[in-house]
Amino acid sequence: MSRTGREIQLAARPQGEPRESDFRLAEVQVPDPGPGEVLVSNRYMSVDPYMRGRMNDVKSYVAPFALDAPLDGGAVGEVIASHSESVSVGDTVLHGLGWRDLAVASGQAVRRVDTALAPAAAYLGVLGMPGLTAYAGLLDVAQLREGDVVFVSGAAGAVGSLVGQIAKLRGHRVIGSAGSAAKVAYLEQELGFDAAFNYRDGDVRKLLGAAAPEGIDVYFDNVGGEHLEAAVAALRPHGRVALCGAISQYNATEPAPGPRNLALVIGKRLTLRGFIVSDHSQRMGDLAREVGGWLRDGRLHNRQTVVEGLEHAPAAFIGLLKGQNTGKMLVQLS
Ligand code: NDP
Repeated sequence: MSRTGREIQLAARPQGEPRESDFRLAEVQVPDPGPGEVLVSNRYMSVDPYMRGRMNDVKSYVAPFALDAPLDGGAVGEVIASHSESVSVGDTVLHGLGWRDLAVASGQAVRRVDTALAPAAAYLGVLGMPGLTAYAGLLDVAQLREGDVVFVSGAAGAVGSLVGQIAKLRGHRVIGSAGSAAKVAYLEQELGFDAAFNYRDGDVRKLLGAAAPEGIDVYFDNVGGEHLEAAVAALRPHGRVALCGAISQYNATEPAPGPRNLALVIGKRLTLRGFIVSDHSQRMGDLAREVGGWLRDGRLHNRQTVVEGLEHAPAAFIGLLKGQNTGKMLVQLS
């Protein structure tokens, strides 16, 4: 017996900024799960900046999305039928078949999550991929050391707000940048950043110089471009950069020029290191213990921006790229 489900398909490859017309809501027949498979009713799905890259037909570290096929990505949902020995009906599971309300997956491809420890949505954010990105990027890639002054861009977003809070909770001075006065107030007043600025207020180099007059030791880069150039200028000798994302360039139709001051990297003995979160899954246990502990005892703020309804997932994704989110951007499915 099959059921009718709904999914979001990629109707066209976006040119520059994605538009609603690049996506299509389709009704599809969802088959019964086969041997070893489960049927999941999705509750939340994630929209993430990396999905923009997958909408282009270019080779990268993940394959491009196919046209006229459903998009995919992180989701959590409830198992409503199971032919898998490891997963039971009623379990809440994390898996990679988002952008649809019903998903048939191999029991091996879903992971049970404990909703007694944290709400299901947290496994798409603070205790999931973005959390691990922040944790491993800051501690292992940027090699955070005692006394480091930390600067993070995209600071009011999913990854950035965790980078800043982890650094603060470990006793560091933290500076953040974000794209509105309301986000700057959130960073300074709610998350306890030592300083923050709105990068739209002027030259990022000057704004960072004013926020960190004595310089920085670590830059966690979510943005690239002008931010990276400003950070290279502000970094002190032996400073470290975790190159996590370059969202200022994701909609670019021409290659963007690199920082003009890269020669400073030599004299200052800087380290700039790119990374991909999936190479750091061994840190998942540490994330759950340390960050999960702060979450439970209320020391870590976990703001989310939740858009209701699968049909609004394209708008949520488009909004994410425009900064309409504070904290993790999620879509709640009915
Ligand atoms: P966010 O929650 O931070 O959302 C994206 C934010 O980017 C927006 O809210 C917006 O905030 C900001 N932004 C958009 N355009 C610009 C721009 N031109 N200049 C500066 N900021 C901009 O997303 P995530 O936390 O999920 O991701 C943050 C970064 O981390 C992304 O670059 C992403 O690709 C990267 N990433 C990398 C991973 C890896 O393995 N290397 C894994 C996960 C994420 P604002 O209002 O402040 O402009």
